[in-house]
Amino acid sequence: MGQNFLSSPPAARMIVDRTGISQDSRVLEIGPGLGALTIPIAQKTRQVIAVEKDRRLVPLLRQELENHGIDWVEILNQDVMKTDIKAIAGDKKLVVISNLPYNISSQILFRLVQERACIEKAFLMFQKELADRILAPPGKKAYSRLSAVAQYAADIECIANVGPAAFFPKPVVDSTILGFDFKGVSTVSETTEILLFTVIKAAFSKRRKSLKNALVGQDLGLEKHAIAQALSCARISPERRAETLTVPEFLSLTQAVQTIFTGKNI
Ligand code: SAM
Repeated sequence: MGQNFLSSPPAARMIVDRTGISQDSRVLEIGPGLGALTIPIAQKTRQVIAVEKDRRLVPLLRQELENHGIDWVEILNQDVMKTDIKAIAGDKKLVVISNLPYNISSQILFRLVQERACIEKAFLMFQKELADRILAPPGKKAYSRLSAVAQYAADIECIANVGPAAFFPKPVVDSTILGFDFKGVSTVSETTEILLFTVIKAAFSKRRKSLKNALVGQDLGLEKHAIAQALSCARISPERRAETLTVPEFLSLTQAVQTIFTGKNI
């Protein structure tokens, strides 16, 4: 379950301090484990919901919180991929904090992007290599589907790097905490956004190929001539590859594809 526990209280306090949470914040912690982050979070706000999948850890976490005189954390023994995040938020946007389980970090980030209407900010720890991919700009080899989707949905900053010595068991790689400032309400419709994510996925699924070839096929269900038409309408050279496209270019391409789908003349 991607269990590398933070074993350095100063590192945990530094992370929580950098989130800027206060008593007004409503915090969702994903994977509290044995409470390394939960305790400093709960010392700043009484509105804490912690979602832990491993039921063996729950009684240990409760005991650890009790040892620190904390009885206001709501612990949900659930898989965060199935948790109703909207219900947890209620009428207040959440701050999500997590030392993410490394085996499903990307999936959790995609999920948070989808649920971002009820999330103000997220502070997430990744393996450094994955964090570098999320931050990579267009044109870099590391620029990927995850980078484009995350950069579309949020302003992202690198908060800090944490070395292996701060964890037990010690991972072999460094970790990086990224801060995501979600851009509130989307500027495009829900349908356009779903199509945008499909276009990005299709383009990166064959990232070595030029867009005119990568986009043809089952993901979008469009023939070669329709893809050529969409690329021309979006003023994107058909010879370019996914890794060179900026987020605004992916959006223009999506709008051109959408126009073809709706049968309008372009
Ligand atoms: N927050 C603790 C810390 O920093 O020491 C633990 C972090 S550990 C990297 C990841 C935690 O996520 C573990 O407690 C693990 O059991 C939990 N976890 C793994 N998959 C999960 C899931 N799908 N939903 C919720 N928690 C999960």
